[in-house]
Amino acid sequence: MIKFDKVNKWYGDHHVLTDIDLHVRKGEVMVVCGPSGSGKSTMIRTINRLEEIQKGTILVDGQDIHAKGVNLNHLRGGIGFVFQQFNLFPHMSVLQNIMYSPVHVRKQGKQETRDLAMSLLERVGLAHKAEAYPGSLSGGQQQRVAIARALALKPPVMLFDEPTSALDPEMVGEVLQVMKALARDGMTMVCVTHEMGFAREVADRVVFMDAGQIIEVAAPDEFFGNPRHPRAQKFLADVR
Ligand code: ATP
Ligand code: MG
Repeated sequence: MIKFDKVNKWYGDHHVLTDIDLHVRKGEVMVVCGPSGSGKSTMIRTINRLEEIQKGTILVDGQDIHAKGVNLNHLRGGIGFVFQQFNLFPHMSVLQNIMYSPVHVRKQGKQETRDLAMSLLERVGLAHKAEAYPGSLSGGQQQRVAIARALALKPPVMLFDEPTSALDPEMVGEVLQVMKALARDGMTMVCVTHEMGFAREVADRVVFMDAGQIIEVAAPDEFFGNPRHPRAQKFLADVR
């Protein structure tokens, strides 16, 4: 579904991604962890070309995303992205937020989109907030709306970059629940997160990055039970 082949990125002479090789399979949940500044966000953002690379290739669904003629809007529309900051449109209701792209960008019918939006709100437990404005919602609720909004474009892949790190602790669980349900439903997901409990429970594989490199890729049992690399051992000791 997503395939990195010898991907490299520099900011000036700062080498931020070094020879990234990674294959995320359809239906797989990949959790990416590692110390601050290790390149997690940069890596995940290369998948929809929010960050450009200087060397290597990235395939999404078999398509080279840097091939000539690739339509960036089309590429991004096919990949759901949820950030730390929810970035909902403040002047639109929850329902309007979710309907905006399907109706105005994809030109889909209003009624079918409304039905889809309501079923997504049901799924994230917020059907009763359809008419509310983002400013009146808690952080956890806003993030669940952001997830519903991303899902409204029916992406085959969802990317998450620390979706719970801006939340008050008591709201982290409700967002992780929604992500767990998505995973159970077979969504292909790449999640950058410090929530090691989530990684343990939900990830098919854990990727550990340090200094722009992938140091270890392992099943959660193996990664948490018996991390091979000293840097992974140190990271786990620090986050525990
Ligand atoms: P965190 O856990 O703090 O979010 P991260 O693993 O997501 O960290 P990145 O944000 O990907 O790390 O950053 C990787 C490296 O690239 C860091 O050294 C960072 O300082 C550098 N970097 C990120 N964005 C830029 C930029 N726009 N210009 C120059 N350097 C950048
Ligand atoms: Mg980051």
